[in-house]
Amino acid sequence: MWAVMKAFSWDSLTVMGMPLQAPDGGPQRFIPVFDTLEQAEAWAGPGYHAIELEPRTERDWVADFPDENGNYQNKCEQCGETFIGCRGRAICFACYKKP
Ligand SMILES: [Zn+2]
Repeated sequence: MWAVMKAFSWDSLTVMGMPLQAPDGGPQRFIPVFDTLEQAEAWAGPGYHAIELEPRTERDWVADFPDENGNYQNKCEQCGETFIGCRGRAICFACYKKP
């Protein structure tokens, strides 16, 4: 996975013409993460540095890693396993992805 090393505010993204809003109580900025370097460069345009990220487990919030507060060890409220991510995240990425 590849991250663009710049924090963006949520409202810089639009879906169907509507700006996204920051999650309640969540991070006010995000770092975009992509499967391939080509996708990261296509999104960010030239001039932004993209770095490769390696999740330790599928529970980790890889997109949080570049953030200064993104490498805390948390305990998931749903599955009870530990994961790495932003301070204050309640559930792991694996549980978050479950429908
Ligand atoms: Zn979990």
